[in-house]
Amino acid sequence: MIGFETYPNVDQAAAALRDDGVYFGGGTLIMRALNYGEQDFSRIVRTTDPALKQVEAAGDRVRIGADVTMREVIASSDLSFLTPVARSVGGPAVRNVATVGGNLFAEHPYGDFTVALLALDGRVSVAGGGEHDLSDFISSRTTFNGVVTSVSVARPGGQDFRYHKVSRVKPKGVSVMSIAAWLPRATGRISNARLAFGAMGETPLRALPVEQALEGTSLDASGIESALQAVIGAFNPPDDPLASGWYRKEVAPVHLRRLLLGEGEK
Ligand SMILES: Cc1cc2nc3c(=O)[nH]c(=O)nc-3n(C[C@H](O)[C@H](O)[C@H](O)COP(=O)(O)OP(=O)(O)OC[C@H]3O[C@@H](n4cnc5c(N)ncnc54)[C@H](O)[C@@H]3O)c2cc1C
Repeated sequence: MIGFETYPNVDQAAAALRDDGVYFGGGTLIMRALNYGEQDFSRIVRTTDPALKQVEAAGDRVRIGADVTMREVIASSDLSFLTPVARSVGGPAVRNVATVGGNLFAEHPYGDFTVALLALDGRVSVAGGGEHDLSDFISSRTTFNGVVTSVSVARPGGQDFRYHKVSRVKPKGVSVMSIAAWLPRATGRISNARLAFGAMGETPLRALPVEQALEGTSLDASGIESALQAVIGAFNPPDDPLASGWYRKEVAPVHLRRLLLGEGEK
């Protein structure tokens, strides 16, 4: 019998997790695990703390509460740059409850929203205090036993943020890969770009060689050529029923090219 506990305060919820509890965001993955009898927990813990539902824009960053759902992201005027990303997560029933916090823990090939957060310099806050770089947080997420309270991201200007999800079934298929790029420009040339890929490793990953190859270039066919070369060796993607790792590597430059040149999906 699984226990279900609700706390008014996030610190109480974090303390209640102990060894056998799991935090419940929207439950899209937890309930599936329960339905298949695959759970490794005996208690479900959640909180009604309103802090986890807040979206706060301040200066050049915006903080998104961990319990904010994909539907709420789409409805938020402060998060309009993330609308296409939230829309790419599952179908309407999933988006109604799937949370930003839960997406940080979603296993391959899920985690599309986290790909965008990575590209936008995501920083994770946890109950009890402390802020972590999102890349570091993701790499140790399997041992994390607390509650994420929010994720803060940079607010990109104008056309500086791009996102593309490649799937076989549209509009709500699972990722063959997803790509997010934050492409700030100084006097027309790329400066400090950040790119992240989903489904190209066991977790969402930054594409550091691609970022380096783009530095100082212009966003045209010749300017991006070295970035397309760099992406070929940047990842060691897994095989799964959707695509082999070999296929993912082969098509990564094609999809990156489309994203960088703004060609859209063909
Ligand atoms: C039919 C279907 C389609 C889907 N399609 C997509 C898709 O296209 N793209 C995609 O990225 N994902 C997809 N998903 C996966 C999932 O719905 C999303 O990744 C979602 O964002 C997970 O959030 P959740 O709140 O439902 O997580 P939950 O099921 O509540 O939790 C998942 C894990 O995260 C942990 N967790 C949740 N919130 C927190 C927190 N605040 N602090 C600490 N730990 C936390 C839980 O303890 C649990 O281990 C799909 C799922 C289904 C069932």
